[in-house]
Amino acid sequence: METAEIRRRWLSFFESRGHTVVPSAPLPFDDPNLLFVAAGMVPFVPYFVGQETPRWPRATSVQKCVRTPDLDEVGRTSRHGTFFQMNGNFSFGDYFKHGAISYAWELLTTSQREGGYGLDPERLWATVYEDDEEAISLWLELSEIPRERIVRRGKKDNYWHMGIPGPGGPCSEIFVDRGPEYGREGGPAVDEDRYMEVWNLVFMQYQLSAVRAKDDFDVAGPLPARNVDTGMGLERMASILQGVDNLYEIDEVFPVLDRAAELAGKTYGANPSHVAAQSHPDDVRLRVVADHVRTCLMLVGDGVTPSNEGRGYVLRRMLRRAVRSMVLLGVDEPTMPQLLPVSMERMSRSYPELRTDFDRISQVVYGEEEAFRRTLASGTTILDTAVDRIKARPQAPQRLSGEQAFTLHDTYGFPIDLTLEMAAEQGVEVDEAGFRRLMAEQRDRAKADARAKKTAHGDTHAYRRVADAIGHDVEFTGYDEVVSEGRVAGIIRDGETVEMAGAGDEIELVLDRTPFYAEGGGQLADGGLVELANGAVIDVRDVQRPITGLIVHRARVVSGEVTPGVLAHAKVDIERRRSISRAHTATHMVHKAIREAVGETATQAGSENAPGRFRFDFNAQHAVPATVLRDVEAKVNALLLEDLPVHAEIMSQQQAHDIGAMALFGEKYGSRVRVVSVGDWARELCGGTHAQRSGQLGVVKLLGESSIGSGVRRVEALVGGDAYSFLAREAAIVGQLAELVKARPEELPERISGMLGRLKDAEKQIAAVRQAQVLGAAPGLVATARDIGGVTFVSHDAGHDVSADDLRALVLEVRHRLGNDRPVLVSMAAVSKGRPLAIVATNERAREAGVKAGAFVRTAARRLGGGGGGKDDIAQGGGSEPGQVSAALGAVEDQLRARSS
Ligand code: ATP
Ligand code: MG
Repeated sequence: METAEIRRRWLSFFESRGHTVVPSAPLPFDDPNLLFVAAGMVPFVPYFVGQETPRWPRATSVQKCVRTPDLDEVGRTSRHGTFFQMNGNFSFGDYFKHGAISYAWELLTTSQREGGYGLDPERLWATVYEDDEEAISLWLELSEIPRERIVRRGKKDNYWHMGIPGPGGPCSEIFVDRGPEYGREGGPAVDEDRYMEVWNLVFMQYQLSAVRAKDDFDVAGPLPARNVDTGMGLERMASILQGVDNLYEIDEVFPVLDRAAELAGKTYGANPSHVAAQSHPDDVRLRVVADHVRTCLMLVGDGVTPSNEGRGYVLRRMLRRAVRSMVLLGVDEPTMPQLLPVSMERMSRSYPELRTDFDRISQVVYGEEEAFRRTLASGTTILDTAVDRIKARPQAPQRLSGEQAFTLHDTYGFPIDLTLEMAAEQGVEVDEAGFRRLMAEQRDRAKADARAKKTAHGDTHAYRRVADAIGHDVEFTGYDEVVSEGRVAGIIRDGETVEMAGAGDEIELVLDRTPFYAEGGGQLADGGLVELANGAVIDVRDVQRPITGLIVHRARVVSGEVTPGVLAHAKVDIERRRSISRAHTATHMVHKAIREAVGETATQAGSENAPGRFRFDFNAQHAVPATVLRDVEAKVNALLLEDLPVHAEIMSQQQAHDIGAMALFGEKYGSRVRVVSVGDWARELCGGTHAQRSGQLGVVKLLGESSIGSGVRRVEALVGGDAYSFLAREAAIVGQLAELVKARPEELPERISGMLGRLKDAEKQIAAVRQAQVLGAAPGLVATARDIGGVTFVSHDAGHDVSADDLRALVLEVRHRLGNDRPVLVSMAAVSKGRPLAIVATNERAREAGVKAGAFVRTAARRLGGGGGGKDDIAQGGGSEPGQVSAALGAVEDQLRARSS
């Protein structure tokens, strides 16, 4: 059964049982504490924790998920993907264990003919939380699973909570026994690859008052409304229903693996075992490639771009891992252009926006691969130099130091397995233990850093402690003033409260009142200084609200001692604040103007207000035409001149609604809300800071508009001095161009397009002349044709500096001249820009006789140290060893001879 069909059956099963179908949230969910959505329940968290009233009693979804902690499992187990889809059904105070278990049983075991998944009840196992007698008796009552296949497990495996006080409860998981070929007998406790978990049912039943660890928490009492959250791995179910060994072999993933194997000239699955852990290393690499290519596709599709931190870093790391795996598999050419489209073809069946957005997605991915290949090239040079130096001293140990390997990794992004392999090729060892030690040290530093950044979903005990000690919400004074007096209410260092911090310490400082704006609502945090009455000075770099009601200043103690209780004089960096506030006001104005221009559906989907610039994301299916953007910009700038007053008011939600303030979907508001108005024109619910009058914005310049994901567009813009500088720079460039081509600015477009046209014509002529030269060799080559076993054969080394296009033209010309009366095989090789390439072509008669170009070109490419492929009539390959060109041509000839003998 195709994955798309499993998904369709899921949704229609639950829809017909009263569940509202909710579309998948984007992977980078609107929560700064989460890298990516990692489970189907994430978008529903506000309902489960009681922050919001559920919109429906029952819901179902197929949620896109990415789990970075599973990265190292990929390819080594049969059941972990970095990207996967979680099918879920949810009950918000509606049905409970009885409903959840009977639905699961019904869907799993109803025959395929009748719309179910048709699993054999004999293969199913269930686990339950150790003392959940209710779940055990329901399984016995509602399913055919006998008592011996119902296994009790402890808190670590079968108890769910969010790591913080809140809802919690027992789980029950359903496993499928895939048979003795997949591992040892004995149930899920013995072998989780043979007994594969497919579906987890979570019963939220209790209120937890304290959570110290996964298996260490206090239960306060039963929840008033009990909820159900379930997750079934779509890929895992597909691997079972498609009868394949693992989730890299299902219909949505395997085509990429297959193409990668073809490019690398490898045979996947050479080892007959079904157990993933026993696979050949090449198979593991191919699975990593297939998994990561798909994850990259989905991440970039949802607007993530490669970078050196956060979400972008995860993407970068996976893309590099995929490229590196291909390199280790022996493919040196860029591979994403071969693999990404294959993944898109498959995934767009469920996510059609991947096809419409593919131009953007592929640009991001291909660009990143190119950049990484350059990194690899420079890392290779560094490595070679280091190796040469080692070899120059033959009496010293022939070994690359841990530091060298670490620098290669850290500075040049050069992966250790590549360093090991390449050093080994040159007969040099690597101090791998030293490298690992340095990596571990770096990881510890990163962990300490992450601890400092951890918030609501992580370890919050220190924050709670400080918040409890203050006894009230930290007062934010920054709407009215940029300098405030307060007191040091708490100091946190490395995730723990401390009683003292000194010069040089990185701390999180809590004041009982502060003018510093904490990052939120798309507005970046304030910076500035805090001076204490005892003379200490603290430099504030970031401000966050890790838990409700608490504002923490991430800061470095410049001088003096910080102790609790001391009087504090907090001063916001006014320039930065003003500049951010101008950007925020501009965002509201652009938002309003865009809605006026393209319709009310263009609601905000995220924004970032930074000093002098902002970006604004909104929902729209199509690009906003350039003319409309120009109108939006003109309208906003006209309203700046009107110098509209900007003011904020606190009112009830109802009042806000009545005066037409825009509330943003997905944001959470209490009953009193703050409404910011620009004149009486743009009105929005907003907790941010703003300019006082629109005139203070000076100029707003939109830089452009682009797609960042399915149905989401992004406008980027500059405000104030930054907008002016931009315009001034553009004007200067136009001036230079005008002088260069001796034209007036308004004549530039015509003048330059004329020049480009002439240039293109000239290039065409040059190409034609060059090709004529190359093709001139054709008659002579036809004369060299020989007969090998009934096939007319031409073999030719075209030498250096022949482009792939020209070589291909020559091959086709010779084939054409040889006609179609007899089978023809033309084989040529050349070195283009230092890299060898081979092209083989056959005519129709040859193909009828079973002589196919692809098979021959692979032989040649192997000799050249690479891979290749193509169609039966013409195929191309390349490698990395220019010295092997004649050997490669010889190999093709041998293969042809072998065929006839
Ligand atoms: P495992 O122990 O096998 O890693 P899990 O306990 O982490 O699974 P849950 O968090 O309960 O899994 O997620 C619910 C369901 O999502 C699982 O039953 C499984 O079917 C699926 N799932 C979880 N992680 C992955 C993954 N990395 N790749 C594919 N499917 C997954
Ligand atoms: Mg897991």
